[in-house]
Amino acid sequence: MKREAALKVTLLAGGVGGAKMAEGLAALGDIELSIIGNVADDDAFHGLWVSPDIDTLTYSLGGMINRQQGWGLADEGTRALDTLTMLGEDTWMMLGDKDFGLHIYRTMRRAKGDRPSEIARDVAKAFGVKPQILLPTDDKVQTRVRTDDGWISFQDYFVRRKCAPEVRELQFDGIEEAEPTKEALTALGEADLIVIAPSNPLVSIAPILETKGLRGAVARAKAPKIAVSPFIAGKVVKGPADRMMAALGLRADAAGVAERYAGWLDCLIIDHQDEALSADINAHGISAHCSDILMKDQADKARLGREIVGLGRQWLKKQLKEGRAG
Ligand code: GDP
Ligand code: CA
Repeated sequence: MKREAALKVTLLAGGVGGAKMAEGLAALGDIELSIIGNVADDDAFHGLWVSPDIDTLTYSLGGMINRQQGWGLADEGTRALDTLTMLGEDTWMMLGDKDFGLHIYRTMRRAKGDRPSEIARDVAKAFGVKPQILLPTDDKVQTRVRTDDGWISFQDYFVRRKCAPEVRELQFDGIEEAEPTKEALTALGEADLIVIAPSNPLVSIAPILETKGLRGAVARAKAPKIAVSPFIAGKVVKGPADRMMAALGLRADAAGVAERYAGWLDCLIIDHQDEALSADINAHGISAHCSDILMKDQADKARLGREIVGLGRQWLKKQLKEGRAG
């Protein structure tokens, strides 16, 4: 059998859900994977610049993630944080001892004026990550959440308040001025297949797409665009996406995700349990494909990754045939 050429796959991903999908795709031998991550969760803690979603991708793909948590490094300690607590600092943001080393390095390089994209690339390389981890922008973009107590930072909402407050409004500070990176634009323009991870559509995927030029680059790309739903049987696997979607007047299910991605998405992969939502998804001009989309282990991730790439290849063949016929 003739070996098919390596497919260029570009994945849009947040943190934990994004990293699962990234691992599933990275397990395939016959693709070239680029991942555009989310930087809108970034913030300063104890004078250091922390980039939680990018670090989750790096630690996962480097095989050093804490598998129970899905974030942070395995075999971590909290001694640095204990010292900060003793000194009277607020230490609700969980930062491990080994993890601190990376935040020190990132902060040092940023202070030297190095591009955040280059820092992320060098860090990924040092952690043995094979796929390219790209940033949507090198500029500062930060998610802010309006609660009944006023506007708070994303990590204050997510970590300190454990997503308890109702979300009234979301804002990505700095997004209007943020310039897209040439690496992200190239990865979208040259992709054979664009995949949207089952990440939170409102706070992980939206800040990527809303960076100047990126939604347009996705929409214009010739590549088929396939997303995986973060909802299974009307529930999220983890996190606040369901309550956020409902609070902002969106349907909190796979059809709500289709509504968010309507206009450019070709196919939404949903769970078998959600098959009944297919017609509502189709109504947005998006085809629905049923599969098992809960990724409990490496085998689940790789199987879903293989299925997505298989669908992508089918889509490309169909495009080619229609192009020849027309
Ligand atoms: P965060 O940045 O760490 O909050 O993570 P993401 O935004 O990347 O992903 C969060 C989303 O991933 C949640 O809405 C979950 O429902 C979804 N998710 C987590 N694990 C799985 C899984 O195994 N399958 C699917 N389909 N979604 C998942
Ligand atoms: Ca995140």
